[in-house]
This record gives sequence, structure tokens and C-alpha cells, in this order.
Amino acid sequence: MYLKVRKFDAAFIKLNQKIFMPIIKRLKQLFSFNRRPQPKGKIPICRLCKVSVADKKNSHIVPRFLTKSLFPENIHKTLAIKGDGSSKEPQDTPKEDHLLCTACERRFEILETMYAPIIRQIHDYKVQSEKFEHIVEGQKEYLKSKIINPVSFRLFIYSIIWRLSVCSNFEFECMKLNAKIEESLRGFLDQNLQDTKKSLVEHLPSIATYPDYHLCLIKPKIKTNPPGGVLSAYSEKQTHLIMLVDFALFFITDDKSIIPALAEFSNKGSRSVLIGLGDNEEWIKLNRLLVHKMLNKG
Ligand SMILES: [Zn+2]
Repeated sequence: MYLKVRKFDAAFIKLNQKIFMPIIKRLKQLFSFNRRPQPKGKIPICRLCKVSVADKKNSHIVPRFLTKSLFPENIHKTLAIKGDGSSKEPQDTPKEDHLLCTACERRFEILETMYAPIIRQIHDYKVQSEKFEHIVEGQKEYLKSKIINPVSFRLFIYSIIWRLSVCSNFEFECMKLNAKIEESLRGFLDQNLQDTKKSLVEHLPSIATYPDYHLCLIKPKIKTNPPGGVLSAYSEKQTHLIMLVDFALFFITDDKSIIPALAEFSNKGSRSVLIGLGDNEEWIKLNRLLVHKMLNKG
């Protein structure tokens, strides 16, 4: 888990990590998954194309533009807390060597370059009414995008979920898809990601089918600064929660596991991309709850 805290809190957490360690070890046992580490000494094959050598070093697991508000400035520190209770102060978003080949890394970059401005526009939805319809129905509040291609949205979201599941990064050790779903996302990404923006834009209309699961993307109504959110990911059976600092992403792979409050924002079967809006107070509470769970404070 990555979180941004005041310098004083960072020192406090580091001081107390020995106390929390046994509790966190137990949490790790509860949530640990087998990760099949790559054999040492030999560069493995790219996890996406399964053809080329995974020569790329420092592949981002989560696009940097989603996490950059976590990183350094004067009065705050970023802490990465491991499953065994130890912590460190990373300077950048989680990366991994030898996960992908250079060509596949490039294919992810093309998609991410396309999505960086879209994510900014989502945060600015109040002045982007030509791009997002802001809908309020009783307690339910959400954005309906007029510009996001639903197929490219799946590519973008699945590209993050798949990397979280296949990486060996300790920060994401509590997140793992089952093998069949992981492979369905890999196949979809490998078949459809392109090596230039032009070819991706031209290719999108020809994609007839995609793996269609419940995807619920929720953000606080007002972007918090400094970020009140954490970077982390958890799996519990068919429900996967991915905290992306300013967004919460629920990925739920069966219909029985989705609760009604989330189903309202599900993009499964939807032809328009929906983004749920939550109250800022609830947003902070959810993130605090996750931090406290990790540290077992409450
Ligand atoms: Zn590759």
C-alpha cells in the first residue's frame, strides 16, 4: 500500500512497525497468493505477448499520471507498507523489471498517452459538460461520458488490472485474478493493443467483443489535495478493489458478488462509460478504513 502522510506520521508508523508486524504478518497469510517468481539468472519471456524476451526494466505497474499526486513535496511523505509490516519511502510509482518486452511496454504507453487527458477531464467534469453528463438521481450521482470509447475504456482499465495481477511487486501482493480471467484479459490486451496511436484509433471500431465484467469506477465529487486516497489493491474471491489514489475501481467477476450500491455504477453491458461520484467525507472514510485495516488500528 502507498499512502501520503505528514512527516510526523511517517516517523510514527516506522517507529511502530515492529508492534504491528505480527498482526500484519497474519493479514499477509490471509491475503497471500502464489506468485510464481521468475527463475533467477535468465531473462523471462514477456508476460503479455509470450513471444519476446522481457527486456524492459522499470515498467510501471500503474500509469504514472494516476499516482503522481502521491509523490514528493515538502510537508508530506509517501510510505509504502509491505505485507510483513516494514515500510519504505518510495520516490516514484511502483515499477518492475522484466515483466514486459520493449514493444509491449510501448503498446501500454500508447494507450496511456490517450487516457492521461481524459483522466484530467474527468476530474474537471464541472467545466466539461460537453464531455460528461452529470446525473443526479436521488442519492445516486454519476457522470455519463459522451467522449470515452467503451472499448478503449476496457483496454485501459484491464491494462491496469492485468498488470496488478501478474506483477511480483510486494505492494500489490494482496491482489490476484484467477488464472482463467487473467488469461482472458491478457488475450484481449495482446490482440488489440497497437504500437501507434493512429493504428489504435483505426483498430478500435473493429473490436467486436471484449471480456465484460462489472467495472465500477468511483471518484470523490471534489478531487482531494493532498490526496486523501491510497494506492493499493485487494482481492477477496470474485471482488477486486483497486485504490488508484483519486479513484476507487471495483472489478467484480460474477453477478452474485456485486452489492446493489455498486451495481448502480457498473459498466458491465453499458454502451456509455459511467463514473460514480461519492461524497468526499465518505471517500476519506473509506481510505482511512483501508489504512487502519493495513495497520490494524481499528
Ligand atoms: Zn511482449
